[in-house]
Amino acid sequence: MEDLASPEPKPQPDYRELLERWGEISDLGRARALLAWDERTMMPASGAAGRAEQIATLARVRHERLTDDRLWELLERLAESTRDPDTIEAANVRAARRDCGRARLVPADLRAEMARSASRGETAWAAARPESNLAAFLPHLERNIELRRRYAACFEPTSHPYDPLLDDFEPGMPTSEARRLLTELREGLVPLVATLAEDPGAPEDSIWLGRNRFETDAQKRLASELLRLLPLPPGGWRLDPTLHPFATSIASGDIRITTRYDPDDLSFAFFSALHEAGHGIYEAGVPAESRRTPIGHPASLAFHESQSRLWENWVGRSRPFLEQALPLLRREFGDRFADLDAERLYRAANRIRPSLIRVDADEVTYNLHVALRFELELELFEGSLQAADLAEAWNARTEEYLGIAVPDHAHGVMQDVHWAAGSFGYFPTYTLGNIIAAQLWEAAAAELGDPDRLIAERDLETLRAWLAKRVHSHGARYLPAELAERALGGPPDPGSLLRRLSRKYGELYSL
Ligand code: ZN
Repeated sequence: MEDLASPEPKPQPDYRELLERWGEISDLGRARALLAWDERTMMPASGAAGRAEQIATLARVRHERLTDDRLWELLERLAESTRDPDTIEAANVRAARRDCGRARLVPADLRAEMARSASRGETAWAAARPESNLAAFLPHLERNIELRRRYAACFEPTSHPYDPLLDDFEPGMPTSEARRLLTELREGLVPLVATLAEDPGAPEDSIWLGRNRFETDAQKRLASELLRLLPLPPGGWRLDPTLHPFATSIASGDIRITTRYDPDDLSFAFFSALHEAGHGIYEAGVPAESRRTPIGHPASLAFHESQSRLWENWVGRSRPFLEQALPLLRREFGDRFADLDAERLYRAANRIRPSLIRVDADEVTYNLHVALRFELELELFEGSLQAADLAEAWNARTEEYLGIAVPDHAHGVMQDVHWAAGSFGYFPTYTLGNIIAAQLWEAAAAELGDPDRLIAERDLETLRAWLAKRVHSHGARYLPAELAERALGGPPDPGSLLRRLSRKYGELYSL
């Protein structure tokens, strides 16, 4: 304690202690991630109760370490004594103070109540969704919103009640900026989607579909081969089946990618494997030496999503990549793809069709699904919309943005698990990721030349190395706004994405 008042602080031992403490906090988090990965890929269903206890214990111990008073005192001393703000040390102290400071503001009983309510909400949602039973789901939704309001209030004063919710996923981004970006994009996309939806020259995409047509083992082989086309670290990843695909990083050199194999729709596994691999490539690009430090993880969810979208849509849906995928498709599903040429495969992979379900949406309409959720979340937290009126607002906006009527709540307001699990503030990062991906792609093209040429030459390592230099290698050293300045040359701006989509779909359709 005497160091607090000491006129000559000793940064070296303090900093070493910070790294030691953070190494354990990081290990607890990664161990929890491994248990969660196992739960969603390997664990027999009967293990669920025991696993929930194990995960809760690790989460609790990690939280205790994070909110430890001694750690906070250490960080206060380090903040005083760290002079040069541009060093890695200063970045680690800033990142740790941010994480600890936020964790310390929320009472433990509120956190526990949020976790309980989320778990109950998810269970109620899973039971109520098949019957579109909104009445059974509504009390859980209302409870989750009330708890999230109390959570957000812990961070007051804030300029918007949604700021703390967004800040959990996109550090430092104000709600006003997210709203400006998503509104500008939405205003550009609604007319584009309306035009594409009515176009008689729309690409044909039935090649991906067929009742029980796509055998799981063949899809597994295909997904593995596809990932081998990407610059994933050799020997540093694995691919496993799950229900809701995700990617996670357990340690440096240990990336877990998952996908789901739908026997009726081959495109799901094809593109979700590429998407999750994109998340994995980012995680693998965080330097090994920073892994157990406060900055040893990706910068934000929007930057994370920019990487997954880039590999899924900019690379995976490009002509040269699909040309390389065609022989793999023929090998596993020969008769289907035998007569198909690469140009038709490209068209089939780029069909725009307004639809009800977000997770099945194409790269254009996806952003309208996100805009809708984000706007409704803002209205709920601003108080201009009540949970009881949410379904009606949802249906009206689906009609307005996508031009389609919602037949029931299972295909409407009850389709996603997020709100049932109390997760608010997460959705906008999906579209922010698309916006950032478009800017990164333009910046890469300006420096490296046409990225399609790199894809055609099977030189994706050059693209990965460029992304690693611009984004991955920094980990969370910079807040997203500063990383955007460094990596994109300016703040996020929907212009690049709107230009890309108009150009690409103008050429694909008969616009
Ligand atoms: Zn993702």
